Amino acid sequence: MFGWFGKRDDEAAPLDEGLWESATLPYLFMRGMPPADNERLRQLASRFLARKQFASTHGLEITPFMHVQVAAQAVILVLELGLEWYDGWSDIIVYPGQFVPEREVVDENGIVHVVNDPLAGEAWLGGPVILSYEDVALAGDEQARVAGYNVVIHEFAHKLDMLSGEPNGCPPLHKGMSLAAWKDAFSGAYGDFCRRVDEADAKAGADGGAELDELPIDPYAAESPSEFFAVVSEAFFETPEWLEPAYPALYGQLREFYKQDPMARLAAT
Ligand SMILES: [Zn+2]
Repeated sequence: MFGWFGKRDDEAAPLDEGLWESATLPYLFMRGMPPADNERLRQLASRFLARKQFASTHGLEITPFMHVQVAAQAVILVLELGLEWYDGWSDIIVYPGQFVPEREVVDENGIVHVVNDPLAGEAWLGGPVILSYEDVALAGDEQARVAGYNVVIHEFAHKLDMLSGEPNGCPPLHKGMSLAAWKDAFSGAYGDFCRRVDEADAKAGADGGAELDELPIDPYAAESPSEFFAVVSEAFFETPEWLEPAYPALYGQLREFYKQDPMARLAAT
């Protein structure tokens, strides 16, 4: 909400061009980005930063460069949708590295287990996005780059999915999109991918996991339909050249949803 005391995000000062360029240059999703789109993305990132509030933990100092890194990766998803898709919450919490929330999970026998797996990011329904900065930085780091891994795109895809309630892999679709076509493409690809991960897992013992490395997207996608949507969103923007040939119908649905065509951008490079 814009009170008299708040700054209007449409008046947000555009991000410094040099800072923008140095932060975004390494990102795979910037490949083939036409200058006019690059400029719109920069404006959108400025408005995003005016709307969202950053907090850090463990004494981490969040620099302007880090703001731009998070903002650029967050707004690529909504370049054609608009910032309103991120309305209803405002906090982004940044940890220096992976964090270990302690959770209680009740299993099918009613037994409570304490789960404490380290996380690279989290998105809460109606609440904050939480990020490990070490993982945020991996997306742009040539040395450490794991192609397609992008924790910011991942968590913000969850935020879009949550616009229709508990995340289930289906964000609100646009007028003219067919829910049946979406479900067909998604369940077909999800089923196939889970089978491939199972097969690769079965063989992984013999060849040290090489089978898993050959999958077109991160095997974590097989976790659940909502994780599948978040991971294929990462792949859509970061490594469309792997996703599109593997799952063309799914790629087509994502292209309609995000109203962008990263493959066409790549072809123009
Ligand atoms: Zn996730």
